[in-house]
Amino acid sequence: MEYQLSQIAAIVGGGFSGTDSTVQSVVTDSRSLTCELGTGPMFVAMCGANHDSHDFIGEMRARGVRAFLTERAVDAAPGCGYVVVRNAIEALQRLASYHRAQFRGTVVGITGSNGKTVIKEWIAEELPAGMKCYRSPKSYNSQLGVPLSVLMLEGDERLAIFEAGISKPGEMERLERIIRPDVVVFTSIGDAHQENFLNLDQKCLEKMILARGASRIVYHSHYEPLGRMIAAHFAGRKLYDAAAFPRVPEAVVGNEASRRNAQIVEAFCAAMDFPEPAFSSAPEVAMRLEVKEGINDSVLINDAYNLDLNSLALALDYLHNVALSRRRTLVLSDIAQSGLSDDELYGRVAGMVARAGIDTFIGIGPKLKRYASLFACEREFFASTGECIARIGRDAVAGRAVLLKGAREFRFERLAHALARKSHTTVLEVDLDAMIHNLNYFRAQLSPRTKLVAMVKAGSYGAGDFEVAQMLQHEGVDYLAVAFADEGVLLRERGIAMPIVVLNADADSFDLMIANRLEPEIYGFRSLDDFAAAVSHAGEARYPIHLKLDTGMHRLGFMEEEIGRLCEVLPTRPEVKVASVFSHLNCADMPEEDAYTRAQIARFDRMSGAVAASLPYPVLRHTANSAAIERFPEAQYDMCRLGLGLYGFGWRHNDALRPVSTLRTRIVQIRRLAAGETVGYGRAGRLTRPSVVATIPVGYADGLDRRLGCGRWSVRVGGEAAPVVGRICMDSCMIDITDVHGVAEGDEVLIFSPAAGNDPEAMARVLGTIPYEVMTSVSGRVKRIYLKE
Ligand SMILES: *Cc1c(COP(=O)(O)O)cnc(C)c1O
Repeated sequence: MEYQLSQIAAIVGGGFSGTDSTVQSVVTDSRSLTCELGTGPMFVAMCGANHDSHDFIGEMRARGVRAFLTERAVDAAPGCGYVVVRNAIEALQRLASYHRAQFRGTVVGITGSNGKTVIKEWIAEELPAGMKCYRSPKSYNSQLGVPLSVLMLEGDERLAIFEAGISKPGEMERLERIIRPDVVVFTSIGDAHQENFLNLDQKCLEKMILARGASRIVYHSHYEPLGRMIAAHFAGRKLYDAAAFPRVPEAVVGNEASRRNAQIVEAFCAAMDFPEPAFSSAPEVAMRLEVKEGINDSVLINDAYNLDLNSLALALDYLHNVALSRRRTLVLSDIAQSGLSDDELYGRVAGMVARAGIDTFIGIGPKLKRYASLFACEREFFASTGECIARIGRDAVAGRAVLLKGAREFRFERLAHALARKSHTTVLEVDLDAMIHNLNYFRAQLSPRTKLVAMVKAGSYGAGDFEVAQMLQHEGVDYLAVAFADEGVLLRERGIAMPIVVLNADADSFDLMIANRLEPEIYGFRSLDDFAAAVSHAGEARYPIHLKLDTGMHRLGFMEEEIGRLCEVLPTRPEVKVASVFSHLNCADMPEEDAYTRAQIARFDRMSGAVAASLPYPVLRHTANSAAIERFPEAQYDMCRLGLGLYGFGWRHNDALRPVSTLRTRIVQIRRLAAGETVGYGRAGRLTRPSVVATIPVGYADGLDRRLGCGRWSVRVGGEAAPVVGRICMDSCMIDITDVHGVAEGDEVLIFSPAAGNDPEAMARVLGTIPYEVMTSVSGRVKRIYLKE
């Protein structure tokens, strides 16, 4: 797109002031930065439920942004232009609708419950050679995602494909006005996102609104009632029922759903008069990128999503977020099917690489090699992925953040494997999107002014250290809290710059803490004196500390009768500055103890109030943990401390939260045993029938509690429960897969996962403990992998 800011004001009906400029891209996330800023960005500020991005306007100006779309008047700065509207999302929708109206190519809209992204990518692969096509990046299919993706249209594409996703009535109406598709593809219909609809018929009718102006409609009559409703409703249009298309060879595509997707793609090609698709294989669309530890202390970001310029821009943004203080390496393959000339394509790639601050560029494929001179940073080129694996230098990887972004035919998974830190097959997979969902769930219960401490002690309750902290920093959490100084030091070494509180600060580590700007919990006069001495020794003053009060847990903290003396001592200690005063509620999750908790809150109010009143500067007061945020909204004070909830568990089972961790491994061996045979140490597993037994490489040294043996826990194989047979060994255990069919060696096994019955809550019940212990028991030798959309 390319508009003058004043023109945008006229299109969206907003008030324009300041200096006009050319706008070529839209930024809604103040943290996204690396790629767009070279290209006439307009920053859009909005007031959301959880945050107000008008706060970032100054920062965006400092980064060179000159054009702003805002929801209220802001202080004008020289050289900048502003458009003020009532609702920024509506304004973007209006602008996108205008932009769409200028487009001369064919527009395809895809909607349905599942398979939208897979079909979109598949269609893009089956296009006639050389056709310039735009497709929305990843799943940009929401009320904000659709306008953003329409605004990325350059105008000379011959085909543009957009996804439309809805979760409640009324939404498709707005999306249709923006996309106005010439062709609509309906994928499957199911009960996903059903909560806001009366029934399936209502949801189908809502989805069908996307096709109200379309001349060609592709659907699959297997999906009822949608198929029947489309046939009746759109009788006058050109309808293409995918069920009528010859079945693609079974060997090519996997299950039934995948075969139906292939038929939909085939019907689409017929609707467009494209050549029949070749169907060499079903595309595997990896929607999420994977972050894991690489060799030589590197961080690997493997983005296997299809490679085009838009997805490269998103991945570079993510690299920017993860890298922090690390140097950055990008490994990129040649890009196929862009519809641009090579000169233009690689010219743009080089511009993006320069703006993203890449330190080392590694190009794979003959085309990038030809354009080597465009890349100004350190660079290296290889003809093939194989050559790169064999010859890549350690220096390009060691200590760095490395982004791998390759087109599918370059098979970068081999490179990812070669660069990953080796360890055994058992991994703990951590879903960072689920964690953000949980964070927002709790934020929505806090008043907008209440600050948040995220508890990342014990390696983020077992979920891993740096990546979780990086995400929380990125999401704008106010403080992190760790248990011990060395946990905080590790985060600092990796570039986490936000305030970090150390809960169990012991005098031995005070110097280390001060050197790393870590803030201690001070729980008694002795620790106050010792810390003040350490601060003074380091030549500092007014160092932030956090005072812990004991309101009834009797673990650590100043008692109520000590508050008077504390208030006298503090003014004599200019070495420290009280950043916060806090206490811990030890029964906030127990309704039967609510009277006790209320008394604790009242005591906290008195004690912290007295301390705050004795100080000549403002201090934060906080006492609520996850359970208290939900159960005692009156105890929010200035800040809350979110732990368990972040990782997906409530004070009682809560379906609105998403557990973040999955412990997975693979079957290493399968054997068939006769009835009467015994399995494992002590012959504890006695088989009462002919059985199929599989061995998995996870044992009590990995954190699989030995008391889960002998059938007390079942893992999942292919979605079915498989009980543990016999005793759990140190490094492995055996499971009974007699009742699970079609299992082979190498198949995946879920030890625990978010699935009901297989989750840490269920495991905790078996063990007579709490999910906290289950999560923190997964040992350090189990590699953590982070997933992010
Ligand atoms: C661990 C911890 C929390 C977090 O509690 P959750 O129940 O996990 O939310 C809060 N405050 C203190 C002092 C803690 O040690």
